Amino acid sequence: MTRAIDLSDIRAARERIAGKIERTPTVLSEALSERLGIPVHLKLEHRQITGSFKLRGASNAVASLSVQEKARGVVAASTGNHGRALAHAAKLEGTRAVICMSRLVPQNKLDAIRRLGAEIRIVGNSQDDAQQEVERLVAEEGLVMLPPFDHPAIIAGQGTLGLEMIEQVPDAALVLVQLSGGGLASGVAAAIKGVSPGTRVVGVSMARGAAMKASLDAGRPVLVEELPTLADSLGGGIGLDNQLTFAMCRDLLDDIVLLSEEEIAAGIRHAYEQEREIVEGAGAVGIAALLAGKVSASGPMVVLLSGRNIDMELHKKIVCGEKPSFAERAA
Ligand SMILES: *Cc1c(COP(=O)(O)O)cnc(C)c1O
Repeated sequence: MTRAIDLSDIRAARERIAGKIERTPTVLSEALSERLGIPVHLKLEHRQITGSFKLRGASNAVASLSVQEKARGVVAASTGNHGRALAHAAKLEGTRAVICMSRLVPQNKLDAIRRLGAEIRIVGNSQDDAQQEVERLVAEEGLVMLPPFDHPAIIAGQGTLGLEMIEQVPDAALVLVQLSGGGLASGVAAAIKGVSPGTRVVGVSMARGAAMKASLDAGRPVLVEELPTLADSLGGGIGLDNQLTFAMCRDLLDDIVLLSEEEIAAGIRHAYEQEREIVEGAGAVGIAALLAGKVSASGPMVVLLSGRNIDMELHKKIVCGEKPSFAERAA
């Protein structure tokens, strides 16, 4: 078992990736503050380069490689945003990147990765199928695997987001963070609890296929069927041989909230109409949890907007109140 990531790892990551990522702003949401009766701040990380926080972990992981490893190239399985971030980070370092993904990944995400100069392999119907192709490339071509969440340098990189949030809102009583494989939640919670132990950190997932929640309930990593969801960046399992994020989420998260597809759609709509921000489904789950009345706090809240990479035709349908057709999107 690898040791958990702590504040010193996250501070080192911040120095390593300074100048490679943006320090994104945190703004007060008037609409949400009025609705909840406490200050609600939004961390606008969907404005990060490549459109999600994943660039933090990917940049830290690629920058941490040896000269020999950089020469061999990197490979990952990705639902899109990690692949995009890794392609960007590898290009900056002049390193080859191969990205493996399942057929459920939306076309807009795939195109963006190809444009960044990475090679793409489409394999199977799940994150686990894509992962098998990654393992083949590591064994047969000697590429270095940089997974989307269960890796010390990835978790430390995502943790830099937690440092920024607690610096921007030092009196935060509650932080809402997206939860899928748990690299983001582990890093952010380690940073926030390290600086401000009294601040609560709550994970938010979609109800359709919440792998970390099912695993924490079972007391060990379990398989969960991957289903199409508006929060497609939160899809996929946590890995049955999970090394780090299962234990870190178990030890550091105060609670987990699950959301229906209708609630996530309402979050995307609110972000657009009230906050004038375009966010993807995963990016909107924190707002959605507040609107659904599923979290409360006695002091200031920080809500993370984690990504903006949504198909704009789908976004248009959602803000117009149409029900999205999953069959059509998954085809
Ligand atoms: C990857 C991702 C998440 C979830 O991060 P994990 O580390 O897998 O829990 C949340 N939001 C967006 C936009 C993402 O791309």
